[in-house]
Amino acid sequence: MSEFKILSNCCQSSNDFEEKKPDLDLPVAIIGAGPVGLAAAAHLIKYNQKVIILEAGSEVGSNILTWSHIRLFSPWKYNIDKAALSLLEKYDWNQPKFEDIPTGKELVENYLVPLAKTPELKDVISLDTKVISIARKNIDKMKTANRENVPFVIYTVHKGSPKFIEARAVIDATGTWGNPNPSNSNGVWLQSEKELKDQIFYGLPDILGKNRKRYINNKTAVIGSGHSAINALLELGALKENYPQTEILWIIRKEHVEQAYGGEEKDALEARGLLGSRIHELVDSGQVQVYTSFQVERILGGANATLKIVGEVKDSNITIESINEVIVNAGNRPNYSFLSELRTSIDFATESVEAISPLIDPNLHSCGTVRPHGEKELRQPEKNLYIVGSKSYGRAPTFLMATGYEQVRSIAAYIAGDIEASEKIELDLPETGVCSVNLVHANSVINKNSCDKDSCCS
Ligand SMILES: Cc1cc2nc3c(=O)[nH]c(=O)nc-3n(C[C@H](O)[C@H](O)[C@H](O)COP(=O)(O)OP(=O)(O)OC[C@H]3O[C@@H](n4cnc5c(N)ncnc54)[C@H](O)[C@@H]3O)c2cc1C
Repeated sequence: MSEFKILSNCCQSSNDFEEKKPDLDLPVAIIGAGPVGLAAAAHLIKYNQKVIILEAGSEVGSNILTWSHIRLFSPWKYNIDKAALSLLEKYDWNQPKFEDIPTGKELVENYLVPLAKTPELKDVISLDTKVISIARKNIDKMKTANRENVPFVIYTVHKGSPKFIEARAVIDATGTWGNPNPSNSNGVWLQSEKELKDQIFYGLPDILGKNRKRYINNKTAVIGSGHSAINALLELGALKENYPQTEILWIIRKEHVEQAYGGEEKDALEARGLLGSRIHELVDSGQVQVYTSFQVERILGGANATLKIVGEVKDSNITIESINEVIVNAGNRPNYSFLSELRTSIDFATESVEAISPLIDPNLHSCGTVRPHGEKELRQPEKNLYIVGSKSYGRAPTFLMATGYEQVRSIAAYIAGDIEASEKIELDLPETGVCSVNLVHANSVINKNSCDKDSCCS
C-alpha cells in the first residue's frame, strides 16, 4: 500500500496552516482501519467523497489480528458491509460462502485485506499512523466563533515521526480493544495488578497455539462471563484433554452460572448459542471450578511465583491461592484522550455516544438487538465529528459489526448531502434469545427462554 500519497497531498507543517482557507476539497479522515473504518471509507467513496484512513497498526484489522485464532459467531453474511461488497465485487475477489463463519484471521485475510487493496482504497490508507490528538485549526475547545468553518487538524505519529493532517470531517472508528478493564470489580486499575502483568493476560491468548506453554498443567483463573471468557475456557478445556493436570477456575460476578450461558438453542445466531451450550457442558462435566457472586478486589503475588485472587462472595472475604495464570476478560473501555480538544457528548456511565446510551445500556438490553440508529444519534456537538463502531458503544459489550456498517452508511450519506438516505435507517440484528429483564428478576434459574418484544428486545 502506498502510504504517503494522501499524506503528502494533505499534510503540511503547522506554519502552513495559517495560510490555508477552509477547503471543501479536504478529505474526510477516518481513524482506524478495522471493519467499521474501512466500511466508512467504502460508503464515502461510493458518494465520491475524498477520504484518508489513519491506522495505528502495521496492518488493517490490527485489533482483530490479536485474536486471529478465535472463530466469530456470526456468519459472513453479517460481517461484510454492503458498500465494501460492491467494491470487492468489481475485482477478482474470492468471495467466501455467506453461511460460513470465519475466524478473526479469515475475517482479516479474506475480507479486510482484499478491501484495503482495491484501487479505490489502497492509496488512501496510511498504516503505522497513530492519532494522538485532534483539534480545530487555531481554535481551542473554549472558543465557539467560526468553529465549524475551519478544518480539523489531526496530530499523528507516523513511523515514529510527527505528521499533521487537515480534514473537513473526522470519523473515529478506533474501537475499544486493547484498552481493557482491570480484574477489579470496581473497575479501578491498581498498581499491584499492573506489576503482575507477566502472569495476567487481558484478552484472548492463543491457548492451543503460541501461548500454550503458559497454560499446560497450570492452574488458570478466567475472570469474566462474556464470549471472550467462554472462548478462553473452552480452549483451556481442550488443552486439559491432553494435559489433565491443567486446572481451570472460572470467576464470575453473576449469581448463577446459568446466566452466563446466554440463549443457547434460542439464540438467532447458532454459533453464539453453541458457545453457551459448550461451556454449559464443560461446567456440567466438572472440568471447571466455578466461583459465582465473586467480586474481585485485587490480584496479589503469592508463594512460589503464584498469584492469589482476593475478593468477596456475598459479604464474606475469600482468597483463591496458588494460581499460575489469570486471564482477564472484563471488557474494554474507549480511549477519548485524543478527542479532548473537541466538543463531544459522551455518556459518563456507559462511556458511549450520549444519544445511544439508553439504547445500548447492558443493564436494560441484553438481547443483542438495538434500535436502529444512524447519523442523527451519532452526531456530536463538534460539527462533522462522529464516533462510530465499537467505540460508539463505550463499555457496552454487545456491539456487532452489522450495527457499525449501518452507522457509517448513514453518516456517509449525510456528509455527502444525501439526507434522505441518511435518515432511512434499516437494521435487523439477530437476537441472543435472552433478555436482561428476565435475568434481573431471576433469583433462581432464569426464565431465559422468553423474549418479551415489548420490553428489552424491541
Ligand atoms: C473474540 C471476538 C469475537 C467476535 N465475534 C463477532 C461476531 O461474530 N460478529 C460481530 O459482529 N462482531 C464480533 N466481534 C466484535 C467485532 O470484532 C468488533 O466489534 C469489531 O472489530 C469492531 O470494529 P471496529 O472497526 O469498530 O473496531 P476495531 O476492529 O477494534 O478496529 C479499530 C482500529 O483502530 C485502530 N486504532 C486504535 N487507536 C488508534 C489511533 N489512536 N490512531 C489510529 N488508529 C487507531 C486499531 O489499530 C484498529 O485497527 C467479536 C469480537 C471478539 C473480541
